[in-house]
Amino acid sequence: MPLIIICGIPSSGKTTRAKQITQYFLNRFSSQEKIGNVHLINDESLGITKDSYKDTRVEEKKARASLISAVERLVSKEDVVIADGMNYIKGYRYQLYCIARAVGTPHCVIYCGTPIEIAREWNFNRGEEGYEATIFDELVSRFEEPDDRNRWDSPLFTVLYDDPVPSYDGIWDAIIVKKAKPPNLST
Ligand code: ADP
Ligand code: MG
Repeated sequence: MPLIIICGIPSSGKTTRAKQITQYFLNRFSSQEKIGNVHLINDESLGITKDSYKDTRVEEKKARASLISAVERLVSKEDVVIADGMNYIKGYRYQLYCIARAVGTPHCVIYCGTPIEIAREWNFNRGEEGYEATIFDELVSRFEEPDDRNRWDSPLFTVLYDDPVPSYDGIWDAIIVKKAKPPNLST
């Protein structure tokens, strides 16, 4: 079933949006008596701490690998999978897109459009829970904004930081209403 890839700079609201979208899908599944489960995969659910982003990138690579394998395991089932985390690198989103394509299921990308200074403020307000200032800056500089001209970043939905209750209907229409396409091996 469909894969939803959340991306954005640190503390831009990714996990907050991922939870809103989870709730939205659960509500729609139950109101339409459709059978559907939603798996939310993120640092918290995998037990990955913010220290994974420190110093070397070895820990981060491990964290990324565990997220990838969780997505691989779940995406083949009849459920919606939301990949919330570490999706700031283009090549990584491409990898996730390939997993969805391999099982012939739709995917989409949600971009948390939050200005750096706002995310920095939200990060600071998190206190101990937030990223250290240097890690925050480093992750921001490595973030590669999604571009819907790339097939792995399309369809792309941008959720703006100042929209407390955005409509997620477009996401539903894009990945649930649309019939699952067979994998296209020529692209
Ligand atoms: P991320 O997963 O991108 O690191 P989170 O969703 O955990 O970001 O949010 C980071 C912090 O910002 C949290 O403390 C959260 O409560 C706060 N936050 C998220 N969205 C908003 C918002 N729209 N307005 C104010 N604070 C927010
Ligand atoms: Mg998060």
